[in-house]
Amino acid sequence: MKNSMNKRFFLVAAILFAASSINVSLAKDAGVIDMHAHVLLPGQERSLNPSTPGSPEELKKQMKAAGVDMAGIMSMVPKDNMEVTRAYNDFILAQAKENDEFFAIASVHPLDGADAITEIERVAKAGAKGLKIHPFFQGFDPGHADVAAVVKVAGDNGLAVIMDSISADDGDSTGKFVNLALANPQTKIVLAHTAGARFHEMILFAVFAKGPYYKNNVYFDLSATAELYANSPRQDELMWTIREIGIDQFMFGSDFPVFDIKPAKDTMDDYGFSKEELTKIYSTNARKVFGLD
Ligand SMILES: [Zn+2]
Repeated sequence: MKNSMNKRFFLVAAILFAASSINVSLAKDAGVIDMHAHVLLPGQERSLNPSTPGSPEELKKQMKAAGVDMAGIMSMVPKDNMEVTRAYNDFILAQAKENDEFFAIASVHPLDGADAITEIERVAKAGAKGLKIHPFFQGFDPGHADVAAVVKVAGDNGLAVIMDSISADDGDSTGKFVNLALANPQTKIVLAHTAGARFHEMILFAVFAKGPYYKNNVYFDLSATAELYANSPRQDELMWTIREIGIDQFMFGSDFPVFDIKPAKDTMDDYGFSKEELTKIYSTNARKVFGLD
C-alpha cells in the first residue's frame, strides 16, 4: 500500500516536472521575441496611448494575436523619485517572474547619480535582463557624464542598455551614441528605433566595425521605424543599411502600446528579409543581447 502510494507520488511528480519543463522550454525556444514593449503601472495604463492600455493582459492578448512568443517588458522612471523608480522596477520584475513569456527590462533616471547606480545593481541581482533609458522622455543629454556611468555599470552587471535614439532636437545625438559605445565596449547598447529619421547615419557603425577600437557592441531595434518606411522610397535604403551594419545587430520590437504588435509583426514578415535573416531579427539576436538562453 505504502509502496504503491509512493509510486503514484513519483509518477505525479514526474508528470508535473515534465509539464513544467515543457512550459519553460516552450518560452525559452520562443520563435518570435518582441524586445520593446512597455508595461505601465496599474492605474496609468493609458498614459502612453489613450486608446490602448499598456497592461500585461492587453500585451498577452496582442502577443497571441500576432504570434509573438516572448516580450521584453520595460519601465520608464522619473527623476528624483527613487520610491516610484523602485516600485515600477519591482512591478516589472514581478510580472516577468510570474509570466514565462516576459523578461524584465528595468529603468533608472541616469541623472539620479549614485541612487541610479545602486538601483542598477539591485535590479540586476533581481533578474532584470536590460535597462531602458530615454533621453527625450526622461529629459537628459546622452552626452552627460552620468549617462556614461550608468552605461558602464549596467554592462558590468550584465544588463544591456536600451536607449531611445529618436532625438529630434539633438543634431549631435549620433556622435554621442558613438562615444558611449566606444567608451563602454563591455556594454551591449541597443539604439531603440534605429535612430528613426536619422537611420542612415547609423551606417557609421558599419565603418567603425572595420577598425580595431569598436567592439560591435551596438544593436538596434526596428520598432516604429520599420513601419514608418514600409512601402516607401526609403524602404530599400533601410534594408541596405541594416545589411551593411550586419543583420546580427538588429531586433524586432513593437513599442507596444504606442504601436500594436500584429501590424508591426506583419510589416516585418513582409519586408523582404530572408527566412534566415528573420530568424535572427525575431529570435537569435535578442537571445544573445539579453542572455535569454
Ligand atoms: Zn518605447
